[in-house]
Amino acid sequence: MEGSLTARDRVGIQDFVLLDAYTSESAVLDNLRKRFNENLIYTYIGTLLVSVNPYKELGIYTKKQMDIYMGVNFFELPPHIYALADNVYRTMLTETNNHFILISGESGAGKTEASKKILQFYAVSCPSTKLLDNVRDRLLLSNPVLEAFGNAKTLKNDNSSRFGKYMDIQFDHMGGAVGGHILSYLLEKSRVVHQNHGERSFHIFYQLVEGGEEDLLRWLGLERNCQCYSYLVQGECAKVSSVNDKSDWKTVRKALSVIEFSESNIESLFAIIASVLHLGNVTFVADSQGYATLNNSPEIHWLSKLLGIPAQVIQVGLTHRKIEARSEEVLSPFTVDQAVYAKDALAKAIYGRTFTWLVNELNESLANKVSDLFQKTVIGLLDIYGFEVFSVNSFEQFCINYCNEKLQQLFIQLTLKSEQEEYEMEGIEWESVPYFNNKIICDLVEAKFKGIISVLDEECLRPGEATDMTFLEKLEEKMGGHAHFVTHKLADQKTRKTLERGDFRLLHYAGEVTYKIFHLQVMRQSKNAIVKHCFPSTEPDSKKRPETVATQFKSSLVGLTEILMSKEPWYVRCMKPNEGKKPGLFDDVLVRHQVKYLGLMEHLRVRRAGFAYRRRYEIFLQRYKPLCPDTWPNWKGTAAEGVECLVKHLGYKPDEYKMGRTKIFIRHPRTLFATEDAFEVC
Ligand code: ADP
Ligand code: MG
Repeated sequence: MEGSLTARDRVGIQDFVLLDAYTSESAVLDNLRKRFNENLIYTYIGTLLVSVNPYKELGIYTKKQMDIYMGVNFFELPPHIYALADNVYRTMLTETNNHFILISGESGAGKTEASKKILQFYAVSCPSTKLLDNVRDRLLLSNPVLEAFGNAKTLKNDNSSRFGKYMDIQFDHMGGAVGGHILSYLLEKSRVVHQNHGERSFHIFYQLVEGGEEDLLRWLGLERNCQCYSYLVQGECAKVSSVNDKSDWKTVRKALSVIEFSESNIESLFAIIASVLHLGNVTFVADSQGYATLNNSPEIHWLSKLLGIPAQVIQVGLTHRKIEARSEEVLSPFTVDQAVYAKDALAKAIYGRTFTWLVNELNESLANKVSDLFQKTVIGLLDIYGFEVFSVNSFEQFCINYCNEKLQQLFIQLTLKSEQEEYEMEGIEWESVPYFNNKIICDLVEAKFKGIISVLDEECLRPGEATDMTFLEKLEEKMGGHAHFVTHKLADQKTRKTLERGDFRLLHYAGEVTYKIFHLQVMRQSKNAIVKHCFPSTEPDSKKRPETVATQFKSSLVGLTEILMSKEPWYVRCMKPNEGKKPGLFDDVLVRHQVKYLGLMEHLRVRRAGFAYRRRYEIFLQRYKPLCPDTWPNWKGTAAEGVECLVKHLGYKPDEYKMGRTKIFIRHPRTLFATEDAFEVC
């Protein structure tokens, strides 16, 4: 009706596929804004869920809401993360196959919250027995533990995940959650020794110092004051108003017990955490020759006690490099700068190894002990860092953005493939969609012998000869002429002005990023006698060719891709409405940018190619049969015949729809709108 504001005008459309002007970014943005202003943070693109962080409690995650979404058809209720979770779960059960939910978006967009909501939904909706409840509790409690050790306050997010996480939830044939498995990716270890202004180290340190019991702190040699620890005050904000370290400590402590960490393991864990803090307070002075020496400071005493290593070994280890010359080991003294660098490297290594150990322990605890006999299917949850661009981008951003290229590649392969398959299966002609294939950028990074990582590896194998600058020159030599790689030297005049000599720029699918050339020193894996002492079994085989951090990351991503390729994909795209963590504020420029690099327009185009809308005959008939006297109240023939009869009665033109084997395909959303409106009237 002209003039009157329909519900659709006010709250927007709940599935972008039904948007008339679907090729227009502005129309997409308008719809998102409209809904956001009505507190409707979820919108679909077909079965993909778009979510905009409301930065406030909306009261939409109650048990009552869960009940509403349990077992109900995807499109019959307003979009919700529970609808997606439920749909994935039921598809898994009916088709007995494996699935994964990829949750992406930039830091603070709501990925981790989304993954927790999904897990909570399964915790409530899956079958329950005493044994299963035990698994459920462990699955739920693995979160606070991992967050304590892997999350930190950053400028973008007070509870920012500083690692990528993939978690499999395993189900038996009845749909009971019987186990889980976690893979972690690239923990940001540098945070242990350095934090930018306004940021903190990992939560666990503050929790221990603020919440640890008196006798525990005494045993660990810790003061109850974060200001005493050099590693905790780099960002000058040990206290955060939105974080309660004391009560979080209690939660973590309790979780560790439920997950059945032994008391002795828990003791060792905190001994290591405390030793990192002691290590941070170690200082060096130069002797007459300029070499680093240690006073017999109290830190060494505590380190020795907590790590179980003689004080002498620690002292020598912190001030000398061990060089293996033929069969002899020679000690070469550090300067003060070198000693500080080595100390920080040690702290990072200890923390990193501890995190890996923790994940392994969690996995032991989550391992399926219930029903090995029954067929198991899994739903994987991938909560991984989004595309990152800072004013200064280093190796960590390079890895993160490379990871996003890989996931984009996966998205292209899985989604285009599955769309094509659906058309083929339904016997309907496929109209291909133009899209940018980012394989060329993945290759630029990871190709054997000629990719950036390969060049980096080679340079790392030439200690002494290779420098950061020779690395850059090698890159220029090998990548020169590649359309997605630029440096100061390679650039045309105009672009050159925007590049420093020590930079290289990649033209990612999501935009340009300029990286500072990596410090080769950082890439080489540190070998340290003290780390060896603490983690004897995890020390890599020294005879093998040493792997750089970059190569390890590449292998882990290849592994992840393999895991995901064998499963059916579902997507949650999270967005941030503003940079200020504020409720009710929708920043058009910021959201538009995310619409772009989250690939929403591409996804929409793919979904709309040819036929915007498809529904199984049974479901379509069930919903709309009241609109036609021949199908109401009961249709006697097949569902397909019923639908044919129904749409003829509604006056669908022959080119507006196609009948597939199991589904009706509708070309334009307006056709469906008309039907939907008629339905509302009737
Ligand atoms: P990410 O993992 O993408 O970096 P988080 O999931 O940690 O982001 O979300 C950052 C913060 O935003 C959360 O701590 C919470 O305060 C808020 N938030 C995220 N999602 C929601 C939501 N669905 N409802 C309310 N607040 C949310
Ligand atoms: Mg997160």
